[in-house]
Amino acid sequence: MMKVPFFSKFQISKFKDWVFQLASFKFWLRPFAGARQKILKLPSPARGKNAECSKQNQNHDCPNYTDLKMIFRDIGRMNAIIEALGRDFLTAMPDGAYKSRLGQMAFLSRRRHEDLADQKVADKIEQAKTHQKKCPDQWDEWDKANLFEMESMYRHHCRVSSELMEKRARLSYEGRRRHREVLKNNDWQAAQGFLQEMIDLQREVAESKCLLDNQHDNEAPYQALMREYIPGARISEIDGLFTRLDSKIKALLPEVMERQSKQEEPVPLSGPFPSKLQLSLNKTLLGLIGFDFNRGGLYETGHNPVEGGTPDDTRLVIKTSDTHNFLDSMKSALHEGGHGIYIQGLPRTQWRYQPVGQDLGAAVHESQALMIEMILGRKLEFFEYLSPRVEGLFQKFGEPAMQPDNLYRLKTWVKATPDRKTADEVTYFSHIYMRMQLERDLISGKLKVRDLPDAWNAKMKEELGVEPQSHAEGCLQDVHWFVGKFGYFPSYTLGHMMAAQFHESMKRDIQNIPDLLREGNFAPVCAWLGTKIHAFGRLYRSDELVEKVTGNPLNINALTQHFENRYVAAAA
Ligand SMILES: [Zn+2]
Repeated sequence: MMKVPFFSKFQISKFKDWVFQLASFKFWLRPFAGARQKILKLPSPARGKNAECSKQNQNHDCPNYTDLKMIFRDIGRMNAIIEALGRDFLTAMPDGAYKSRLGQMAFLSRRRHEDLADQKVADKIEQAKTHQKKCPDQWDEWDKANLFEMESMYRHHCRVSSELMEKRARLSYEGRRRHREVLKNNDWQAAQGFLQEMIDLQREVAESKCLLDNQHDNEAPYQALMREYIPGARISEIDGLFTRLDSKIKALLPEVMERQSKQEEPVPLSGPFPSKLQLSLNKTLLGLIGFDFNRGGLYETGHNPVEGGTPDDTRLVIKTSDTHNFLDSMKSALHEGGHGIYIQGLPRTQWRYQPVGQDLGAAVHESQALMIEMILGRKLEFFEYLSPRVEGLFQKFGEPAMQPDNLYRLKTWVKATPDRKTADEVTYFSHIYMRMQLERDLISGKLKVRDLPDAWNAKMKEELGVEPQSHAEGCLQDVHWFVGKFGYFPSYTLGHMMAAQFHESMKRDIQNIPDLLREGNFAPVCAWLGTKIHAFGRLYRSDELVEKVTGNPLNINALTQHFENRYVAAAA
């Protein structure tokens, strides 16, 4: 019997045209285009009766406060210059400029610090506070919050010397490059000396900060460092939340594994996924979540993925060099994109460089990144949208690995690994928890740097039941400690908890989120994030914001419920 071809050549070429049309930028953005208008019409808390005139530049009844706004505007400008140089450092800077660039960054950081930690600033803050008491009617809630933040920033810096801040900035940027080298060469010896220097420096900075608050207990320096990322954080509160979350996850894991054991293992992706196509996929996805390329961009780096910049110039950097797997670079783009739309959504027209116009710190920042990357970006309906597009883009029609169910399983398969960056959503917390315990002990001196690899491996065995095969897979894997970010790690889990809690509220306001994601329509959820969170800058403290948006203080319930919905009950 003659075999009849299922498709004629003409039909196949039509099908390819259609798939390429699907993959084209305009088609992807179509659902966003209409909804974008709606976003623009939403009322913004930053738009008052003086919308045309920036609050930053308005004269205030209190001349000292007007002066302070100008001082902080210039500090903000300097910060923006440091950010721009920092993004350039990661992307376009020629190698030969490395040493001079370290000097430039260190110099600017010192100057910024000197302008901020000046006694003149302290005096003006005191006088502005007196004015606020005497004439409360002259101070609206934004001005009050701005002055409060000015004082917090001053207090954070005033006890730390300029020389120390300069040294810290230099070492932090040097750390990016050092990390890349020690990771490539699995070189613990080289890492040890550098980490020792970094930890001594961080401890010195932290101890200076503690002097101000008269805190002398052993944990105070770590808490002081943590507050650079999570303003107002208390170790005791975070300990309470993490202990509860830890036991809840440990109780849930057997059920997760039991359910998973009945499922088919996901089919691994097989490349090639050319870097250029990955970059255009990621740019398109960023367009879908409302990232404004007129005020920002996505760039390739040899360093770790990171976000940064200002609302006027937001730069996201990712790696697309792994041509066997497009999901990793997509994960970075969605994560950094979540950070990016937060930065771009801050109240820049009114409060551009003012403290009240800035983000609420790393925990809230991570909540926005994890909302896009983990909560929304791992829903089955999103993969239903994505699958035909990536089949077309990478020319992998009908491959089992590229089907929605399989992509979903690849991103939600629970399996402990030594690598934090590729960890699944459920075991991710254990990575954070162990790092937090180790960095606390490093800062307090309880753990010596030379003992870090053994302590790391023992903790990993205890928390995750796996053992790294090398230093690179173990204690050298993260860049954070090399760039001086001690106290940052808890932000990931606090952010994850916040994201789950925000998601509960979002679901009450937007009933059909899965249907929207199936159409690739992120506009309503991103507009929700913009008006409920981004546009407020630092008008509220982060605990106030969480309570205002969700009706509850930060707690573990929404996140554990999210785990139960997605990993124990039916697919969510
Ligand atoms: Zn992040």
